[in-house]
Amino acid sequence: MKDRKPARPPVLERRRLKRGAREAKVAREEERDRGRRLREIAKAHLLVNPANLGPNNSYGVPEFVARGYYVDMPFDCRSCGIVQVWTETQQKWWYETAKGDVWAVAVLCRPCRRREKARRAEAREAHLSGLAAKGKAAI
Ligand SMILES: [Zn+2]
Repeated sequence: MKDRKPARPPVLERRRLKRGAREAKVAREEERDRGRRLREIAKAHLLVNPANLGPNNSYGVPEFVARGYYVDMPFDCRSCGIVQVWTETQQKWWYETAKGDVWAVAVLCRPCRRREKARRAEAREAHLSGLAAKGKAAI
């Protein structure tokens, strides 16, 4: 008895299989490109690690989280007006180490921030010593 070739699948089925193979190939290529892009970004930027971010009650996603990596951010100091750069390293520290508010951005340059910190400490000191003096007076 002669071997019979298995029946060819009908033309529509063949086309469906071919299309599936083509789509799988495109998907594999896209995946490979995505990996390549991510590696390029990781070489040039600090990546965001969302697990390290401080807790926040917002439903929104900050831009840097959606982007997945930090970029240096120029800004004008709100106090003295000079142009500053909030670097990727500073941002990563603020969001992931200090667990700072994910919606907060730098607004003061370093000297102004230091000045503001000293001013606040002084005000707190004056307030507390005022309270203490009041307490003593009441006794
Ligand atoms: Zn300043």
